[in-house]
Amino acid sequence: MQSESSGAFRARIHRGAQQIGGSCIELEAGGQRILLDLGLPLAAADVSDALLPDVEGLRGDHPGLNAIVISHGHGDHWGLLPVCRPGIQVVMGAATARILSAAAPFVPNSFVPSVSQHLSDRTVLQIGPFRITPFLVDHSAYDAYALQIEACGRHLFYSGDIRAHGRKAALFERLVSKPPERIDTMLMEGSSLGRLNEHDRFENEDAIEARLAESFGRPGLVLISASAQNIDRLVSIYRACKRTGRTLLLDLYAMEILRATGNPNLPAIGWPNLSVYVPEYQRRHIARNQRFDLLEPYKSARIFREHIAEIADKAVMLFRPAMARDLDLGHLWDNARAIWSQWDGYLQAGPGAKLKVELLERGIQLEVIHTSGHASIVDLKRLASALNPGRLVPIHTFHGERFSDYFDNVTRRADGEWWDV
Ligand SMILES: [Zn+2]
Ligand SMILES: [Zn+2]
Repeated sequence: MQSESSGAFRARIHRGAQQIGGSCIELEAGGQRILLDLGLPLAAADVSDALLPDVEGLRGDHPGLNAIVISHGHGDHWGLLPVCRPGIQVVMGAATARILSAAAPFVPNSFVPSVSQHLSDRTVLQIGPFRITPFLVDHSAYDAYALQIEACGRHLFYSGDIRAHGRKAALFERLVSKPPERIDTMLMEGSSLGRLNEHDRFENEDAIEARLAESFGRPGLVLISASAQNIDRLVSIYRACKRTGRTLLLDLYAMEILRATGNPNLPAIGWPNLSVYVPEYQRRHIARNQRFDLLEPYKSARIFREHIAEIADKAVMLFRPAMARDLDLGHLWDNARAIWSQWDGYLQAGPGAKLKVELLERGIQLEVIHTSGHASIVDLKRLASALNPGRLVPIHTFHGERFSDYFDNVTRRADGEWWDV
């Protein structure tokens, strides 16, 4: 008979018990350890090894640390990988690894992960004493997983970041209709607590697509600010373009991310209503780094700045602040309007706030059309009751204290505290 004794499988949250961002959980069984996520805290100004959690084997060699398992490709879950000791086994989804590599030439703090094993939907991995079952989930990051981990006869379930209203909502429904059984402890994200009322729901991506189409129906060059790594949103924008006869202008970075998914059902070169615009800053970057190879695949679909004005009323441009100069050079501002299709919290400070001011100075209002990457409380309740864990531990939330208002069997754990699974 298998031992059910607790104590042999322990866990501690390093970051996440009281914050969104910087998630990191350490698991230990039989003297072996793994980490779930190694995120950069949202408030961190820079990636620095001073931010590494206090885990033996992250800075120096330690035989007990077997692997770091990354749930998905958002920086608040992987962002400290670049500053930990090279040579630690890193595990993540194959598409996530490709997307991080594809993004590297375009983003600051770039990082090409060296991944030893891949997460794949419901394909069991054994790492030391840990039997890991990944569940592909609906989230604003592509190739995101929840993880079930079994060791010493005990079962932990980590939701990762999850939602039920994106383009992969069916994955959530499958999880709650056929949930893993005998979960002793569930670590569940609670991003929407404090952001959404108990009975309210976030709009789904179809509703976002409809609102975008309505907006695209009005004249003017549409500048849309969305994350190129939010694939669901790129699809909504593309479909809204098709519905309104507009051409979507994607930059090299967005095209490379789409290509890295390896998914033939996503917009690509040769599809209608899609052109590639290479903004000035990317052209300079390519010349500086002699990366002309990056342009090669997109030659046939490129549109040049001189021609954008001609099709302005029939174009939607994926826009980021570094492209303001392109609009100056192309005299495109007069006929332009802007949509913010990201979390509106980013408009309160930093580059988002600066962009908002710059647009207002040009007389351009920002229309916000967005839905969350995280589950509403209604859906979190469905998840918690489907898995029915012995204990539910809050993570990735600013409001762990409210969990017991909504869910059963809640046990709060502090950052840094070891506990039995
Ligand atoms: Zn995320
Ligand atoms: Zn997150």
